[in-house]
Amino acid sequence: RGPDPSVELVRARMSGVRSKLFVLSGKGGVGKSTFSNLLARSLASRFPDKNVALLDIDICGPSQPRMMGALNEQYVEENLALMSIGFLLGSSDDAVIWRGPRKNNMIRQFLSEVDWGDSLDFMVLDTPPGTSDEHLSAASYLVSKTPGEDDGARAILVTSPSEVAIADVRREATFCKRVGLKVVGVVENMAAFVCPHCKVTSEIFPRDRGGGEKLSEEMELPFLGSVPLDPVLARACDEGQDVLSTMADSPTLAAISAIVDRE
Ligand code: ADP
Repeated sequence: RGPDPSVELVRARMSGVRSKLFVLSGKGGVGKSTFSNLLARSLASRFPDKNVALLDIDICGPSQPRMMGALNEQYVEENLALMSIGFLLGSSDDAVIWRGPRKNNMIRQFLSEVDWGDSLDFMVLDTPPGTSDEHLSAASYLVSKTPGEDDGARAILVTSPSEVAIADVRREATFCKRVGLKVVGVVENMAAFVCPHCKVTSEIFPRDRGGGEKLSEEMELPFLGSVPLDPVLARACDEGQDVLSTMADSPTLAAISAIVDRE
């Protein structure tokens, strides 16, 4: 069987995108969409002359339109574009019953037919929890099958400090290995709490049990940082505000900056 022409077409279109960052998590509710949002916004603000796309392929639960405060529009900022299945669904219940081939079709269209502007430098992919059709599809288009070729595709694994969430991240890492997706590292979310009154960050879980950090060590993956549970962040996301300006100087943004620095 020769190469699938539709896959080749999408690959060619996406080949100029320097970084394709898959944000993955084993469980839902650990903050994957929140982190994708922060990451995309931070990249756009750190690299004003580069173009960033946030692609929301969480087909059964697209949350970026609300988080970005962009319920119907594709461009959020000058150099930040958002595309979400949420823009296309009449009702959020519509996509829940989609089967694999239909999801695959949708993802192919997102990658090949959306007008992402002249040149796209970064693409952040907000994915559904676990490893399902959406992940396999996106990986089939964005991860090169040629060993050693730099396709720019990489994964960031988001976890919360609980044991169950961490067990799921192991499965994510196995998935990445299987499809040939390089893992940048692990981000831990909600291990600490930022007090909205005094702004002090308090640890919630004992450090010696060390959730995300311990997991990273065990799996020999870089630990990228810990994003605290921050009521200001929760509210900014809920109301679709620009989290970067709402949260200037917060420890939460410092954690994200350290990750963006690697790009
Ligand atoms: P996922 O994409 O993994 O399902 P979300 O990003 O939608 O998770 O987060 C679930 C909920 O938790 C959202 O309401 C979000 O605003 C909130 N949340 C996530 N991370 C944080 C954080 N660090 N601080 C405060 N609230 C957070």
